[in-house]
Amino acid sequence: MFMKGKKGVILGIANKRSIAYGIAKACREQGAELAITYLNEKFQRKLEPIAQELGCENRLYPCDVTKPEEIIALKEALEKDFGKIDFFVHSIAFAPKEGLSGRFVNISKEAFRVAMEISVYSFIELAQKLKPILSENSSILTLSYYGGVKYIPNYNLMGIAKAALEMSVRYLAEDLGKDGVRVNAISAGPIKTLAAAGIGDFNFMLKWNAAHAPLKKNVTIEEVGNSGMYLLSDLSSGVTGEIHYVDAGFHIMGMPAVTFDENGKPTIAWNGE
Ligand code: NAP
Repeated sequence: MFMKGKKGVILGIANKRSIAYGIAKACREQGAELAITYLNEKFQRKLEPIAQELGCENRLYPCDVTKPEEIIALKEALEKDFGKIDFFVHSIAFAPKEGLSGRFVNISKEAFRVAMEISVYSFIELAQKLKPILSENSSILTLSYYGGVKYIPNYNLMGIAKAALEMSVRYLAEDLGKDGVRVNAISAGPIKTLAAAGIGDFNFMLKWNAAHAPLKKNVTIEEVGNSGMYLLSDLSSGVTGEIHYVDAGFHIMGMPAVTFDENGKPTIAWNGE
């Protein structure tokens, strides 16, 4: 039981397809005590059975990260429940639709502000406001994507947000390291979730990744969950400031693999439709 005695909160479970659910499940299976959050009342009812399954039906709290008072209330609730916590997971992102397709050059200042506030600043603000209750051997985790490092069609504004999020991981890791807080991100391969449905041509992205990743498949929330559990547990006690790829190896490819047909002509190993 790698998480026995560990207590923490997981933000960003929308349903059982969420990456955050995969991480919560893996942590629970390894003995962690959890609290989880929902965005607003509309989602509270949906999350009740999930909270029950995760053994935290009495620790299901509202937290819209655009409302600082809700983050403060979350901190107070966690302090009451647990005293100190050993980890938190930030699995939250949002960009207005205009930022996830079409011409990048046309993105508005308001869409940029919203995406950066919800997808980036919220991670820093959670670290800031939960810090007084973080134990001296704690680990915090966020979720990124390769579109923050290289151009990915339609990822547009979210690519800018993920680049800023990944740098926030490094600056937070240095700043909080002296307090015994480790800070890491998982860069997950594409997975069909609610948030992913907002990205233009997402199904093509899934096919392209499965065709070109060294493992020739897409990853699951269970695989991301297990890696998340490792980064939150003492198994990774020497790791901080890391962007850990869980993407079937896709990010190592500089060029699609080439095979040769019977005439010796090169063909790309593409099995998409
Ligand atoms: P998801 O299930 O839709 O989770 C996204 C979560 O963000 C939802 O729980 C959503 O809440 C929450 N959220 C949005 N605005 C919020 C706010 N103002 N306050 C609090 N919570 C808010 O999708 P997911 O794919 O698992 O996404 C989780 C993370 O993984 C994101 O950072 C995403 O960018 C990242 N990621 C995803 C993929 C992928 O392919 N799926 C790949 C790499 C990285 P509601 O649903 O209640 O609105």
